Amino acid sequence: MGEGADLLVDRARELPPLHLATDALIADTTHFSAREIGAYLLLLIEAWRSPNCRLPDEDAKLADWARLGPRAWITAKPTVMSFWALSDGFWSPSRQHFGAVPRAAIAPSIRARILAVGACAYCGDAAGPFEVDHVVPLARGGPNIESNLACACVACNRSKRDHMLAEWVR
Ligand SMILES: [Zn+2]
Repeated sequence: MGEGADLLVDRARELPPLHLATDALIADTTHFSAREIGAYLLLLIEAWRSPNCRLPDEDAKLADWARLGPRAWITAKPTVMSFWALSDGFWSPSRQHFGAVPRAAIAPSIRARILAVGACAYCGDAAGPFEVDHVVPLARGGPNIESNLACACVACNRSKRDHMLAEWVR
């Protein structure tokens, strides 16, 4: 870990607020009952708080997180999970309903300033090449502002991807 990394870890330890795309969410879920929309939102929040933004395909856990009994969960599951994709035993929520922070371009002057640091904020590598990393990833609601940007070597940036720092340095 590079010298600035401890500070960065502290800054990213708390999750950013979950952005909900309310227009799409309301329009897509008109056929959900109040219980189903409640379960859906609880699971979205649970995924948001989980590594890689996904939940294991285990009905007992999913029912618990959705605050439903086992039978109510089995009845509600097809509706509640209709906006999720199952892959490798994990459910990932559709990004159309949350975390939809528009990807704005980083101003060239800011990009130049970040890259001029000349060392990876995470491993300390000074050889480069370097990329601009979002400390709190855009996909996790991180803002496109200078205080959320760090100079990172290509290897660290590729390996960190959409992880929060606390998940990645574990
Ligand atoms: Zn690095």
